[in-house]
Amino acid sequence: MLNILVLGGTDEARRLAAALAGRAGTHVVSSLAGRVRDPKLPVGEVHEGGFGGPDGLRAWIGERRIDVVVDATHPFAARMTASAVEATGRAGVPLLILRRPGWQAGPGDDWRWVPSLTAAAELLPALGERVFLTTGRRSLPVFAGLDGLWFLARSVDPPEPPAPRRLEVLLSRGPFTVEGELALMREHRVDMVVTKDSGGEMTTAKLLAARELGLPVVIVRRPPSPAGVPAVETVEAAVGWLDRHGTDDRSEAGHAG
Ligand code: NAP
Repeated sequence: MLNILVLGGTDEARRLAAALAGRAGTHVVSSLAGRVRDPKLPVGEVHEGGFGGPDGLRAWIGERRIDVVVDATHPFAARMTASAVEATGRAGVPLLILRRPGWQAGPGDDWRWVPSLTAAAELLPALGERVFLTTGRRSLPVFAGLDGLWFLARSVDPPEPPAPRRLEVLLSRGPFTVEGELALMREHRVDMVVTKDSGGEMTTAKLLAARELGLPVVIVRRPPSPAGVPAVETVEAAVGWLDRHGTDDRSEAGHAG
C-alpha cells in the first residue's frame, strides 16, 4: 500500500485527492489547517488541524507510515511548506510540491508588484481612495490605520479586529465571474484592487474586471519556492510524478530518523 499525505486547502489538493481515490494499492489522507468554518472537503480521509510544526509532522509521517507527501497548499502558505520540507527531509520520504503558476500581466493591465502586504498598504494612499481588498481576512490588520481609505474586503469567514475603520465586509467564496466582479466594482466605485499572486482560474475574474475598468491592481509577490524540491504545476503532472516516483523512492527511502 502506498500511503500518500496531501497537504491541502486548495482546489488542486481536492482534485488530486479525487484523482487518486479508488486506485488499487493507494491510500490518500488529505490535511487541512482547520481555520475555515465550513471547508470544502476533499474525498477520502481528512486530517483537520496542524501537526505541531516540523517535529509534529515528522512524528505523524512515521506513525502513519506515510510514503510520499504532496504539498498542495496555497502558494502563500509558506510556514506549512517549510515544515513539510524539514519533516520529509528528516523522515526520508519524498516530497512533491504542487503549485499552480502565478499570474502574468497582459495588455491593458496596470499591475503594481509589491513584496509584501505591508508594502501594499504603504502604496495604497497614492493610488486612490476606495480599495477592493481580496487578500484574505487575516490580512486586514495590516491595513488598519489607513483611515483616509475606504475598503471593501471579501473573505470566506468574517474578519476579526484590528481592521480598517471604514470597512465593508463581503462574505463570499469563489469562483467569481467577470460580469459579477464588474458589477461589484462599479456598485462600490472602487478605484483599486489588492490581491496576492495566488494564480489559478478560480479568482482571475477580478483581474479581468480591473483591466476592463482601467483600475490599478496591487499584487503581492509569492514567497519563494523551496530550492531543490521537485515541483509541478498541475494535478495531472502530480499524478504522473507519483506514478513514476512514489513506489521507487519509497523502497529506497524508508522512514529514516
Ligand atoms: P501557513 O501560514 O503556512 O501555516 C500555518 C500553520 O497552519 C502551519 O504551520 C500548520 O500548523 C497549519 N497548516 C497550514 N496548512 C495546513 C494543512 N494543509 N494541513 C495541516 N495543517 C496546516 O498557512 P496559511 O497561509 O495560514 O494557510 C492555511 C491553509 O489555508 C493552508 O492549508 C492553505 O493551503 C489554505 N489557504 C491559504 C491561503 C493564503 O492566502 N495563505 C489562501 C487559500 C487557502 P502546524 O505547524 O501545527 O503543522
